[in-house]
Amino acid sequence: MQEKLNSLEKEIRLALKQAQDPAQLEDLRIKYLGRKGAINRLFKELAQLPPEGKKAYGEVINRLKNTVAGELNSRLEGLKVGSKNEFELLLPGKIPPVGHLHPLTKVFDEIVTFFKSYGFTVETGPEIEYDWYNFGALNMAKDHPARDMFSSFFIKEDLLLRSHTSPVQIRTMEKQKPPVKIICPGRCYRYDAFDASHSPVFHQVEALYVDKGVSFGELKWILGEFVTYVFGAQTRYQIRPSFFPFTEPSGELAVGCMVCGGTGCSVCGSSGWLEVLGCGMVHPNVLKNVKISPKKYSGYALGMGVERVAMIKYVIDDIRVFYNNDVRFLAQF
Ligand SMILES: [Zn+2]
Repeated sequence: MQEKLNSLEKEIRLALKQAQDPAQLEDLRIKYLGRKGAINRLFKELAQLPPEGKKAYGEVINRLKNTVAGELNSRLEGLKVGSKNEFELLLPGKIPPVGHLHPLTKVFDEIVTFFKSYGFTVETGPEIEYDWYNFGALNMAKDHPARDMFSSFFIKEDLLLRSHTSPVQIRTMEKQKPPVKIICPGRCYRYDAFDASHSPVFHQVEALYVDKGVSFGELKWILGEFVTYVFGAQTRYQIRPSFFPFTEPSGELAVGCMVCGGTGCSVCGSSGWLEVLGCGMVHPNVLKNVKISPKKYSGYALGMGVERVAMIKYVIDDIRVFYNNDVRFLAQF
């Protein structure tokens, strides 16, 4: 009997050592501690022994039973602690790739920061607009030929997706008497083919300053500051005449072509200059439309496409790269 007990104990210890997972331990528990297991069979054999041996061997078998149960439990606990979770905790952490701002967002923020630093406040407005705010109040009656400059998405006869952020200027001047010094950043929509230089959805920032005695000289000055801030102090620029129905006189700001340095190339159409934005003195009719007297007040307005500014700044020749979400392009900024 004693021999049998010894070899069983050896066998159990070896089996416990070799068990690799909880399922194997469970098999061992059934094999040795189960109702029909090896240890219970020993108890049955105990019945055959003379009374004096019963007690002694009973105790030994009981001890073995408890030892085996204890070992099984501690092995099971050990397997749990040493499981995959702890192993993973010990591995070096996975560092996710860090994102950064989209180039358009960066330029957008830069423009807004520039104007804010000169005392302009940010105004926003709806992207679905009335014809009056998008055109009428801006000195473009229903039959005005300049409406063709803005190929607009009409929803109904009188309702459209705004084709510029100028409606925000009108809405602000309606509710606020001069001085008005605002910028209107936002999304605009035009019925343009999606090609290298057009996108049906794009971003604008417009600035408007209306007060007593605001002059073209002030407009010229802020444009110079703007060029220095966004494109750098060495950048050449010119302000040349243009036409917009809502400004008089009207102008446009152009900077020296970044690609050819001004000698002429395909990007600048051989002119050596790249147009950045349109500007001018607010047309008296626009002021009248918002019940501000053009005799008492004057103002300047300017507006730019954020994509256009970004394309000039970073020398990008295709607007579509901003929307393709190609990480190889985005990661460069
Ligand atoms: Zn050029």
